[in-house]
Amino acid sequence: MSKPKGFIRRTKQRELILEVLKGTTCHPTADWVYEKVREELPSISLGTVYRNLRSLVEAGEVLELTFGSSFSRFDGNPENHYHFACEECGQVSDIDFPLQEELEKRVEESNRLKVHTHRLEFYGICQECLNKKE
Ligand code: ZN
Ligand code: MN
Repeated sequence: MSKPKGFIRRTKQRELILEVLKGTTCHPTADWVYEKVREELPSISLGTVYRNLRSLVEAGEVLELTFGSSFSRFDGNPENHYHFACEECGQVSDIDFPLQEELEKRVEESNRLKVHTHRLEFYGICQECLNKKE
């Protein structure tokens, strides 16, 4: 049973989950999304939130970030972009990196192949945590 990519059934629950994700820059976990959505739909279950997040990821409307941890984080911005994960506080933030397209082109040229997508993750200590150390 495969759905064409990009096709997704619109439900009130799904719309709300998408809205919550697009309204934050914190790259939340499913639990965080669940707590937020529950403020408007108190009867929704965590399982329903998980299922809808899964569908949104499969439809390419949401990004799933794993960062090698046991739980995923979600991003309402589906465009390929880079992230920085703080090893002290666990915060995940967007990284501004202008060479994204150039990078794929360079890899294609030097290896003579075709790149469709790529992933790049940065790890370290965020500005807030750095400031606390001073
Ligand atoms: Zn930090
Ligand atoms: Mn992001």
